[in-house]
Amino acid sequence: MFPAVLGWSVLIFGHLNYVFFISGAITSSWDSRALLLIFHTLLGGMVYWCYVMVMFTKPGQPSVDFIVSSQYHLVNLRYEFVALAGTLQYPPDCPSMTREDNLGLRYCLTCNNLKPDRTHHCNTCRQCVLRMDHHCPWIANCVGFRNHKFFFLFLSYGTMLAFFYTCSTVVPFVNFLDASIHPDKGISPDAAAGGSPGLMGSQFIFGIMFTMALSLMSLMHFFLIRRNGTSHEHHRLPRFIVPIAKKNGFDLGSKENWEMIMGVDPKYWFLPINTTRFNGQSFPVRGPDEEMGDLEHGSLLAKDLDDLNASDNDNEFTSVSPRPGHA
Ligand SMILES: [Zn+2]
Ligand SMILES: [Zn+2]
Repeated sequence: MFPAVLGWSVLIFGHLNYVFFISGAITSSWDSRALLLIFHTLLGGMVYWCYVMVMFTKPGQPSVDFIVSSQYHLVNLRYEFVALAGTLQYPPDCPSMTREDNLGLRYCLTCNNLKPDRTHHCNTCRQCVLRMDHHCPWIANCVGFRNHKFFFLFLSYGTMLAFFYTCSTVVPFVNFLDASIHPDKGISPDAAAGGSPGLMGSQFIFGIMFTMALSLMSLMHFFLIRRNGTSHEHHRLPRFIVPIAKKNGFDLGSKENWEMIMGVDPKYWFLPINTTRFNGQSFPVRGPDEEMGDLEHGSLLAKDLDDLNASDNDNEFTSVSPRPGHA
């Protein structure tokens, strides 16, 4: 929780510092200052909104349909599942296309449930997380199926805000350094920094640090979303039960990949509103001979995409009940 508190503290410090000091130090015109503050409020507001959404939106966990009967808990599940694979089954509406390396069913020994494709167990959250990307201490939450969009938007707007702070303070910061190094010029370093070198310098240093860190991360997640990948899968590719043409069998082409996470309507791409498609427990998979980018004519192995579109389910899980004989 400490990194999240630190993250909020830096954000709020930067906000108040800009409103009460920086904006006044970089311009003496009230009109210019008002324009700067309006822009700053809009941009900062988006960062706050995204930060709240990514922190408090649960990334999603498997439904009760994936819980396995207690009779299987006593066996060494991870290694016996090759033999048990014919006995245990995934829910019919959520077929699995991936397996463990030993071809056994993917199972969570902690949660005692079958793991839907792309689901991984988070030891910090102590639960299985749908389409898990990673656990992020800065948001005290996992990044997964339901909040990956919010995480990407948080990084993107955060980059813009940090860059805005950097641009706002770079000139007074350079002037402060110049006045400090060349006292013969007769300019006081304090005056060059608008009266408070500490406040000006900290805003510049935080600005440039976060611009670099957040821009790299937002770029990385932009490409992950375009390829329909996750950080988890980047390090360890899923093992598919069928031959897959591409390394990443979940890659449906840039457009479909992007719309799966960001939604189909472009005007919602920029807002932290839930527009992620599908239910997070079953994903279409590319077959071995399909042309990428020709989705209309390609058959999907996991489910027909049209069926999935039809049951897009408004981002709610399919209502499920425990199967007979399952705990
Ligand atoms: Zn688990
Ligand atoms: Zn977690």
